[in-house]
Amino acid sequence: MNRVLGSVEPGNDEGRRGSPPPAIDMAFTVHDFARHAAYGLRYAAITAMLGAMHLTGAARLATDRLRGRGVIFTLHHVRPFAHDAFHASAHLEITPEFLDALIRHVRARDYEPIPLAEVPARLAAPDGGSRFVAFTLDDGYRDNLVHARPVFERHGVPFTVFATSGFVTRERTVWWLTLERIIARVRDLWWDTGDRRLHFSCAGRHAKAMTFRRVVDWMNSVDEDWAITTLDRVAVEHGVSATAVVDEEVMNAAELRELAASPMATIGAHTWSHVNLRRVSQDRLVEDIERGVAEVAAILGRRPTVFAYPYGSHASAGVREFAAARGFDLAVTTEPGTLSAADLDRLTALPRISVNGHYQRTAWIEVLMSGLPFELIPHRAELD
Ligand SMILES: [Zn+2]
Repeated sequence: MNRVLGSVEPGNDEGRRGSPPPAIDMAFTVHDFARHAAYGLRYAAITAMLGAMHLTGAARLATDRLRGRGVIFTLHHVRPFAHDAFHASAHLEITPEFLDALIRHVRARDYEPIPLAEVPARLAAPDGGSRFVAFTLDDGYRDNLVHARPVFERHGVPFTVFATSGFVTRERTVWWLTLERIIARVRDLWWDTGDRRLHFSCAGRHAKAMTFRRVVDWMNSVDEDWAITTLDRVAVEHGVSATAVVDEEVMNAAELRELAASPMATIGAHTWSHVNLRRVSQDRLVEDIERGVAEVAAILGRRPTVFAYPYGSHASAGVREFAAARGFDLAVTTEPGTLSAADLDRLTALPRISVNGHYQRTAWIEVLMSGLPFELIPHRAELD
């Protein structure tokens, strides 16, 4: 139901030469509004479920089988919340205060924080003793160094940061941050496709959120490298430098070395380009993983032995990718779950629990750690 303001006549380029391409207003559709509402409802439903499981004590009654031997947490940004900003990715960010509270909470529940590399040994050890927790942070954001590291060090808690080497070297840009930055600063997003100028409204919070999702859908439906190049060009047209955004948000080589020098830190691999590995050729898959390892090794002087799949859900990591990661001691997905001895058979497909910015309450994390929600919610539904 897009309202077309100009007509496009294919094969008639001659007549248009010299005149600007027609503008097309990409008005929001019923589908956009329905999805926007669904996101809100989903958040409310998950919140209600987590709250109910906590209040009724259901999670505390979860069996040892569900609880497993331990959990791996996924974090992204750790930084103070900026109240005025447009947060398309608020689910990827928690505050240093919440990280502090979370560490105290898991310790109080007798979960022992361990380095990620020790997970296989802990899974293989005879039953008994305390459960374990391993903290991981994806992408290599600067706030991991500035805000997360002091919290982990203060508590003596090991953590692993998965660095995308192309972000560190600034050869690649972080498209979701570029997009968020553009949409945050403009009221109107113009997208020149060569023969048309598409217009997306970014006037107000709801319009910004809906436009963000629309562009994300488009990014996921076309070649990712090409889409990022296109987005970076559109960014410039709206006063945003994608490279400046990476510079601001992601650690450079010197900072990665500084982080790696912490006795609590391990640096893992997260590919070179952060491309969705399921959507590229076998050659690119192997190359992108290997280049990511080699570049981190060149920066740190040692090869990473643990790996996280970019994006990490079943839509971006499957059987072929799990096989490609066999050179690592272990690899983690973002599929939700707790860990048990059975996971020794799939050390390159380990589940993690996402510490989601929308659910920053230790009571809710405790429910997730019980494993119960993953039994009750539909298989492969994600808590985001
Ligand atoms: Zn990532």
